[in-house]
Amino acid sequence: MFAELPLHERLLKALAELGFTEPTPVQAAAIPEALAGHDLRVTAQTGSGKTAAFLLPMLHYLIEHPDHRAGTRALILLPTRELARQTLKHVEQLIGFTYIKAELITGGEDFKVQAARMRKNPDILIGTPGRLLEHLEAGNLDFSDLTMLVLDEADRMLDMGFKDDVLRLAEICNPKRQTLLFSATPGGQAMAQVVAAVLREPRELVI
Ligand code: AMP
Repeated sequence: MFAELPLHERLLKALAELGFTEPTPVQAAAIPEALAGHDLRVTAQTGSGKTAAFLLPMLHYLIEHPDHRAGTRALILLPTRELARQTLKHVEQLIGFTYIKAELITGGEDFKVQAARMRKNPDILIGTPGRLLEHLEAGNLDFSDLTMLVLDEADRMLDMGFKDDVLRLAEICNPKRQTLLFSATPGGQAMAQVVAAVLREPRELVI
C-alpha cells in the first residue's frame, strides 16, 4: 500500500484520487532508497510505473523542504518531446494539492518564451537535452540550487547521441544533488561513462 510508504499526505491524497493504491515493483524498490537520499541506477521497462518511482520521492522532498528563494530544484532529462510532455502530465496529476510549479523545455516551442518562464524559477524543469543545451549556451540556466537530477530513458538518450549534452548539463548541476538514472536496458560503454561521471555510489536496482 502507498499509505505504508513515508510519503507526504498531499501526495497520498493525489495517488488516492488517481486510484493508485499499490506501488508497482519498481516503485516499491526505488521510493524508499530515493527517500533515503541514495543515488540510483534503475533498470526497468517503460510501463513499469518508473515515472512515479522518481516523481514521488522528488515531490516529497520539495514539499518537505520548501525554499522560496531557491531557483530550479529538480531537473528531469528525457530523450524526446513526447516523453517530456507525458512526464509533465504525470507531474500535474501529482502536484494538485501542493504549490509546486513545473515547466517543459523542449524543442518546437518559442525560445524566448521559454527563457522568460525559466526566469520565474519553476521548481521542476522537464526537458530534452538539445533544447536545454541551447539555453545553457544562451546563459539561461542556473542549476546551482538543484537537489535532484533525473535521467529517464537514459539508454535511449545515449542511443540518440545525447551523451555529451547530458554530461555538459550534469556538470552545471549542484554537485550535492541526488541523481536517479532510469533505463530499460543496461546500456553499453557510453552508459558506463555516464554512470561513472554523474552518479555517486549508486544503488543498483534491476526490476
Ligand atoms: P510509466 O512506466 O511510468 O510510464 O507508467 C505506466 C502507467 O502506469 C502510467 O499510465 C501510470 O499512470 C500508471 N501507474 C503508475 N504507477 C501506478 C500504480 N502504482 N498503480 C496503478 N497505475 C500506475
